[in-house]
Amino acid sequence: MGRKCDKEILNMPTGIYQRTQERSRIWQGSKADYSALHRWVEENRGKPTKCEHCKKDGFIGSKIHWANKSHKYKKELSDWTRLCAKCHGAFDRESDKIMASKYRKVREMYKQGYTAVQIGNELKMSTNWVHGVLKGKIGKGK
Ligand SMILES: [Zn+2]
Repeated sequence: MGRKCDKEILNMPTGIYQRTQERSRIWQGSKADYSALHRWVEENRGKPTKCEHCKKDGFIGSKIHWANKSHKYKKELSDWTRLCAKCHGAFDRESDKIMASKYRKVREMYKQGYTAVQIGNELKMSTNWVHGVLKGKIGKGK
């Protein structure tokens, strides 16, 4: 039994798990909410085996995931896309780049005298998020 558990851990997509953990710091709800949200998507849209990005089919288990498009974890089915592990990795790297440029923009606009509300409106992000970035709670060092 112990051996089986070890094997399961070894087979886990480590990169994805770490990124998920990192993201859950941004995620304002609890970890339980986070998994509940993924379950909710699965209940409503099932577990398709086809990647919506590369259009390849036949992915199962940890080879394919539900990815959140906006990274705001909205309870909206249209905000979720089915991606294979490879596309999900590329998607996350691309999103990280976009987010890093948003963090920079927040700091720049703040220096220019814009308020958190104005910055939020400009970047289509919440005022709380802008405050988080300015206080260094979100996007630190990026
Ligand atoms: Zn793919």
